[in-house]
Amino acid sequence: MAVKTIWQITHSCGHQAARDLSDRAADRRAGFAEWLAKQECTACWRAAKGGDEEDKAAWLEAKRAEEQAESDAWSEQYRNTVVLPYLAPAAQAVRDAECVAVAVDVAIVRTPNTK
Ligand SMILES: [Zn+2]
Repeated sequence: MAVKTIWQITHSCGHQAARDLSDRAADRRAGFAEWLAKQECTACWRAAKGGDEEDKAAWLEAKRAEEQAESDAWSEQYRNTVVLPYLAPAAQAVRDAECVAVAVDVAIVRTPNTK
């Protein structure tokens, strides 16, 4: 089965748009598509904004909101991932800082009752 990268989004304004999410990590696409569906489509959003002057600032703001939402969605999904078994043996061989960070996150996820 091919990996789904084009998502048909039905925006809050009722319009549909195909979004290519291939530049997103595979495990983040569903959450991001869900967030997109809560937004107006680009045309409606632009029409609502109006005025070229604010356009760039508004776009940047929207872009930041998008990335924040994406990151939130991913965190949410990650929290709900109870077991990452393939990381357990790897933890013994942790060498670089990134792996340490991941291992710490896993430890938090796997020991929810520890206070
Ligand atoms: Zn629309």
